[in-house]
Amino acid sequence: MTPCQLCAHEAPGRLCTPCALRLGRHLVDLPHLYTALGAHLRPSSQVRDRLGTSPAGPDAPMPVAEDVLDLVGPGGIVTVLETWRQALHEDAGIRWPEPWGDLPGRVRRAAAGLRDHLAYIQLDWPAAGDCAREVAELHHAATRHVAPVDRPTVVGTHPADAGQDPAEACGGRLELPHGGTTVRCTRCRTTWGPLQWLRLRRRIEHARTADRPAA
Ligand SMILES: [Zn+2]
Ligand SMILES: [Zn+2]
Repeated sequence: MTPCQLCAHEAPGRLCTPCALRLGRHLVDLPHLYTALGAHLRPSSQVRDRLGTSPAGPDAPMPVAEDVLDLVGPGGIVTVLETWRQALHEDAGIRWPEPWGDLPGRVRRAAAGLRDHLAYIQLDWPAAGDCAREVAELHHAATRHVAPVDRPTVVGTHPADAGQDPAEACGGRLELPHGGTTVRCTRCRTTWGPLQWLRLRRRIEHARTADRPAA
C-alpha cells in the first residue's frame, strides 16, 4: 500500500479506490456536461459571434458565457481529455487513436478511452493523480453551469463470460449511485465494494484487451 496521489489515504497503487471511482464518474459525466454546456450557450448564440469577431463592449460583459466558451471550445474539455488520453496510451505502450469527428464526439471518445483503462490508471500510471485532479477541475467548472447530476452513473456491464460462476454470467448494467462507493448490477442485484469492484474492473479490462490482436 502506498499513499493515494490525490488524498493521501492508503492506495493499492497510485490512487485509492474512492478517488479512482470518482475519476471514473467524472469521465462518465463529462460528455453529458459538455452537451449541457452547449445547450447553455444556445439561447445567447450571438455571444459566440461577438466574442469571435470583436471583444465584447463594456455594455455587454458576459463572464458566464465566456467561461463556458473556454470549456466547450478547442483547448477546453476536449483538449484536456485528449492530451491525457494520448499520454496514457504512450505510457501504457498502446497505439494512440487519432482524434476524429466533431467536438462532442471527441469528448465522448477521449473520456471513454480513459475510462477503458481505469484500473491501469489507478494501479500503475504515474500521472494518475495529476490527470484525476485536472479532470475533477473540469468537472467542477462544468457543473457550476449546469444542474447537478444526481442520477446513478453507469460504470459498465456485468460480464457475461461463459464458463464462469453462473452468478457472474449476467450482462446487466452496473451502476454507481450518486455519492456512493458501492457498485450495483441492475439486473442480478449483485453489489461490489470498492476493492471487489477494482477486481471486477480489472477482469473486464483484461477480457477486453485479450479480445484485441496484440499491437
Ligand atoms: Zn484517494
Ligand atoms: Zn449482474
